[in-house]
This record gives sequence, structure tokens and C-alpha cells, in this order.
Amino acid sequence: MALLEIKNFNVTYKMKEKEVYAVQDACLELEPQDAIGIVGESGSGKSTLAMGILRLLPKTAETTGEALFEGNDLMQMPPEELSKVRWNKIAVVFQKSMNALSPVHKIGKQMEDVYLIHKPGTPKKEIRERIYELFRVVNLSDRVYELYPHELSGGMMQRISIALSLIMNPSLLVMDEATTALDVVTQSQILREILQLQEQLHLTRLMITHDVSVVSSTCNKVVVMYAGRIMEKGRVVDVLVNPRHPYTQGLLKSFPSFHGEKTDLRGIPGSLPDLSVKPTGCVFAPRCPYATDKCRTQLPQLQSVGDETQNWQVACHLVGGEGNERA
Ligand code: ATP
Ligand code: SF4
Repeated sequence: MALLEIKNFNVTYKMKEKEVYAVQDACLELEPQDAIGIVGESGSGKSTLAMGILRLLPKTAETTGEALFEGNDLMQMPPEELSKVRWNKIAVVFQKSMNALSPVHKIGKQMEDVYLIHKPGTPKKEIRERIYELFRVVNLSDRVYELYPHELSGGMMQRISIALSLIMNPSLLVMDEATTALDVVTQSQILREILQLQEQLHLTRLMITHDVSVVSSTCNKVVVMYAGRIMEKGRVVDVLVNPRHPYTQGLLKSFPSFHGEKTDLRGIPGSLPDLSVKPTGCVFAPRCPYATDKCRTQLPQLQSVGDETQNWQVACHLVGGEGNERA
């Protein structure tokens, strides 16, 4: 059984003057120990999807669809049950998670308090041991226990955020641009550590990022989003090596290759469409070099490409299924 199954998920931000269709008809499955990267340019709906399934969106966001975690729908769960699941089984690390910590209390004391909220009455010695164990997992020395947040570097802070998220031994770790603000050296160290701890702790990971290289180096599967919709999804070794959707192809051309032939970086001309208008056809048509009349009038559905073992799907009239002109 999938650890998390997202079915026909929609999020609409309802504002006074307009409605923004931020996520439309998203379907996604995470098998135990999968590491799935959600990529797409800014505003494509990545964070809204992840925060939507965790019910962490503002009240203006209306959601429909299902998010089955271990078979139970997070969308229907009573709030008390949901908050237990969120700490004990699903943990989240944001880009600025550390801002939640108090600047006037030592790191160790704050972690103890978090532990006690979830497991009241635990002996102090046991909590300290758990915190030191987590420090080792994220490569921090024990002396960090006695430091204040302002005494930590950006990398150390993000390691603390990761350690805090793991305090209750979750099975699913959601990381929303969690390494984006770090310098490249620290980012690659932390990404290596995340891979190690995923293996050590048998974690399943959902990684939201605009950086395709983060996905290629740390994930086994990828979901490509554009304007609130999933354009392509499958294994990293298929989608990022031989992308089939024109948007994925454009996105990959926007990133430099460290190893391959040196080529000019070509971004994708144009910009994201207005998400308050529901398009009749393919949402990428205004920027797509292959757009036809059919593309402008009929919405392409995700269709399988490759063989069954690949679980590879693409939403483009020209790839897979009928009218398979470029596949
Ligand atoms: P980024 O990488 O910049 O965070 P993203 O892919 O995660 O982008 P979202 O932040 O999910 O995209 O935003 C998707 C769309 O929803 C955007 O058009 C954004 O303007 C809109 N949006 C996000 N949050 C709100 C909000 N609280 N109220 C109204 N619209 C919002
Ligand atoms: Fe381009 Fe048409 Fe495919 Fe959309 S459906 S990505 S417009 S070719």
C-alpha cells in the first residue's frame, strides 16, 4: 500500500476580487521510502499542494480531493488527530523553520520543550539522550545544546530544523525549499546527510524545490508542475534523462549541465498564465513551441508512456495515447 496517496486534489484561493486555481486535479503516490521531488518554476503550485495535504493553508484556501496517509484521509481527520499525525508521523521542514525558535532560549531547552509537548512526563535524561542522538544524525556536536539560535550558522540552523522534525520518529518527511537559502557547499553537505538519514531511518521524503539538480541528486521520482497542474511524473532516471513533456524539456534546458557539452542556457519564453482564469485547453499552450489548435481547445490528461514498470505519465496531446505524433 502507498504511504501517501493524493487523489484529484484541488486548491482554490478564494479572495474578494477573484479566485486563484492554484492546484488542479493533482494525483500522486508515495511508496514507502520513496523520495519524490516536486519541481516547477515559482508560482506553479508546489508549496500549495504540499501544504494543502497537510492542511496548513490559510482559511482563504478551499481544498477538495483526498490525501490518504496510511489509508486515512488527512482531509477528513478531526483536528486533534491530524495534529498528532503531523508531528508523530509526518514532519515538515521549511526554508525558514528556524524562525519559529525563540532567540532567548538555548537550543537544547527548546528541543526538550517540543519533546515534552508530545510526550509529557518523559524523564529529562531520556530526552537529552534523544536530542544528542539527533545531533549525531544531522552531524552537529553536543555543544550545540547549550547555544542560542543567533550563535548558529545558516547550515547549523537548518540541521537543527531537520533534527527537530525527526524528534518523534516520523515516517514521512516533507521538505519545502529547505536547503534553498544555503550556500552551495553547505547545501550539498546537507543533501548528502539527508540521503544518509533517509536510509538509516527508512524515511519517505517529499521534496519541494525549484532546483532540478536537488531532485536529480537526492530523489528517485519526480513530479513536474506548471500553473497548478502536473505535467509529467515518473522515475528521475526517465523524466530527467529523457523528458517527454515540452515544459519539462524547457525547464531542463534552463539549468546548466556540469558534465555534458557546454550549451547556451535557454529559459522558457513567456511567463506563467493568470491562475484566476481556467484555460479551455493545455495550460502550457501559450508558451509551447509545438502548440496546435487542439492544444488550445482540449485539456490534455496524464497518459502513460514507457512500460508498466516505469510508471511514467505525461499530460501532452503529442505524447502517449492517441495522436502520438512525437513520442
Ligand atoms: P514558489 O516556489 O515561489 O513558492 P510555488 O510553486 O510553491 O512557488 P505556490 O506558492 O504554491 O507556488 O503558489 C501557487 C499560486 O497560488 C501562485 O499563483 C500564488 O500567487 C498563489 N498563492 C499562493 N499563496 C496564496 C495565498 N495565500 N493567497 C492567494 N494566492 C496565493
Ligand atoms: Fe504543447 Fe500541446 Fe503538449 Fe500542451 S498539449 S504541451 S501545448 S504540445
